[in-house]
Amino acid sequence: MRLFTVADRLMIASSAGLVDVEIASAGRFTADPHSAYERWDEFRTWASGHVETETQAVDPSRLGVPVPRPRQVFAIGLNYIDHAGESGFAVPTEPVVFTKFLSSFTGPAGKIVLPPGNVDWEVELVAVIGRTGKNVSEDRAWSHVAGLTVGQDLSERASQMSGPAPQFSLAKSFPGFTPMGPAVVTVDELADPDDLAIECSINGEIVQSGRTSQMVFPIPELIARLSRVVTLRPGDLLFTGTPPGVGMGRRPQRFLKAGDVVESRIEGLGHMRHEFIAAAADPAPVEGAPVGVGSSSG
Ligand code: ZN
Repeated sequence: MRLFTVADRLMIASSAGLVDVEIASAGRFTADPHSAYERWDEFRTWASGHVETETQAVDPSRLGVPVPRPRQVFAIGLNYIDHAGESGFAVPTEPVVFTKFLSSFTGPAGKIVLPPGNVDWEVELVAVIGRTGKNVSEDRAWSHVAGLTVGQDLSERASQMSGPAPQFSLAKSFPGFTPMGPAVVTVDELADPDDLAIECSINGEIVQSGRTSQMVFPIPELIARLSRVVTLRPGDLLFTGTPPGVGMGRRPQRFLKAGDVVESRIEGLGHMRHEFIAAAADPAPVEGAPVGVGSSSG
């Protein structure tokens, strides 16, 4: 099964196109994309037997973030041996964990503004948690994953490296720095979810190419290690690290510039396409009304 969002409404793919889950289920599941993960077993049972009602064509430009409001976002640094090397670090013996803030999320296609600094690419496999779990064993870990999607862990290296210790979370959370999609693909659709080709290209030139089987800590081990500390919840996201070939590791170094088109692709999951554009010379502050103030319609 493939789960999408269009205009923040949950859709599943059928042979004929996209099916709006709230309409097709007569309200049993809401349009909120997270309604599927909160009741994952029930949702899967319903989806496998649902009657195909009206369908819509898949228009990539209308697809949104497939999992827009997770309670927790985990991201793993240096999780491919040769990426640790190109970054100047030893291969980790414990996962390096940080987060990406939700305001950086964006969908699988569109334009992303380049902030000042050195913006780098990191294609990553993203796991979506489908079941509450604490102290999950490795052999049970895949049963806690609802599906997988393609992500980018875009990173501004100057702010990442400023200060006495790396600022992973903030430097990787500028607006648009966490693209995801196009769909969440359930694990049963993949012949071997531990071994998928993963690739990133810039303007058609392949800059990263690897296999997810090259992870230092594979997804089951990450879930086991994380859940020794935290309780994983349905809809949580796990960014699993990037293969070698990022711009920071090149000699000379290379970073994204206005006009560059980055495509991110993982076998069996689809691909994303983003164009990078220059920031306005004098960006305006963005403010919203304080909570509780504004239109009476709320
Ligand atoms: Zn990363």
